[in-house]
Amino acid sequence: MSELEINSLRKNFGALEVLSDINLSIRSGEFVVFVGPSGCGKSTLLRCISGLEPITSGTISIDGRVVNEVSPSERGIAMVFQSYALYPHMTVAENMGYSLKLARLPREEIRRKVEETAAKLQLTDYLDRKPKALSGGQRQRVAIGRSIVRDPKVFLFDEPLSNLDAALRVQMRMEIGQLKKTLPDTTMIYVTHDQVEAMTMADRIVVLKDGEVMQVGTPMELYETPASLFVAQFIGSPK
Ligand code: ADP
Ligand code: MG
Repeated sequence: MSELEINSLRKNFGALEVLSDINLSIRSGEFVVFVGPSGCGKSTLLRCISGLEPITSGTISIDGRVVNEVSPSERGIAMVFQSYALYPHMTVAENMGYSLKLARLPREEIRRKVEETAAKLQLTDYLDRKPKALSGGQRQRVAIGRSIVRDPKVFLFDEPLSNLDAALRVQMRMEIGQLKKTLPDTTMIYVTHDQVEAMTMADRIVVLKDGEVMQVGTPMELYETPASLFVAQFIGSPK
């Protein structure tokens, strides 16, 4: 069964139609990249999926359940933003366990989940440090860890690497690739305007333009048989 199903999704901001008739089926455990030029609606689509933005019409289902009216925290979705803020006065462990503390989980369980998550992200040795004692990449991993502790079914990334320098971006791409192996059952949707990132990371790519899906396919399919000149030029293949 498909983990995430989007049918005839539309999203307007007043008179402006930002997403028109989006239809997508994303399987459990898939790593899907949304790619397209700035302003094409990538962030809006992610925000609609997460529930941060109400949709104008259509349906979004997760695990066969329509979630149009379900609140963000109850959708089983975690979102990693472009800019992330860790709590500077808290340790890594406290940062990662904070949402569980708010959910009133017992201390021991919080500790166990935080340690498990830290091990997956190679952060075990940093649990007692404050964010300022970490590198940029480590901070990014703590931000991801904060979401993982809640066992999301779907992980959404909105251009998480765009604020990083080139070397760190390469490293983080590898780390996200690693994360995909660590969490093979977690569906991941990754937004970028960088086609190289899309081609190297995706199981499947969704190419968006002006709020519409231009093509969906594996990196190889898009490269070898682009459906339009736009896709060909965007992906950089010789159509
Ligand atoms: P992308 O992430 O692909 O760069 P966005 O989803 O941020 O694109 O934006 C798509 C379009 O929707 C843009 O024209 C943007 O100006 C518009 N938009 C986004 N958010 C809002 C909002 N809250 N109110 C009005 N227009 C918005
Ligand atoms: Mg965006």
